[in-house]
Amino acid sequence: MSPALPESRPGTAPVAHETGVGPEPYEEITHPSFAEQAASFQAVPTRGGVVLKGPCPRCGDPMDFPHVDSVVRSWLRRRPHPAPLAATAETVVPMICTCAVPHPGRPDDLDGCGAYWNVILRDERP
Ligand SMILES: [Zn+2]
Ligand SMILES: [Zn+2]
Repeated sequence: MSPALPESRPGTAPVAHETGVGPEPYEEITHPSFAEQAASFQAVPTRGGVVLKGPCPRCGDPMDFPHVDSVVRSWLRRRPHPAPLAATAETVVPMICTCAVPHPGRPDDLDGCGAYWNVILRDERP
């Protein structure tokens, strides 16, 4: 006696999945975790603003993102529940991935993998 095995239905063959091989395809996408991971970016002061440097939270490629704002001095981690920005020196900065890796399907006039997210910069003037 042997138990009857369920017959595999025709037309439902498992789809081969590419895992971690080569750059991810370009896709304009965001996720709450992007901003959290991007909190590890370094804010490098430049004339009239900062350049945010770090690995893209989606594709992991090194990138930098210039943000010109004379009052921005330091980096602030994104909070789970951001307070209203009125009367504070916080600035919400929309960022996009600007890595130099050629992600498949990317428009010629764009950089990065298509990931985008918001970060908060805070002025810390004494
Ligand atoms: Zn990339
Ligand atoms: Zn990216």
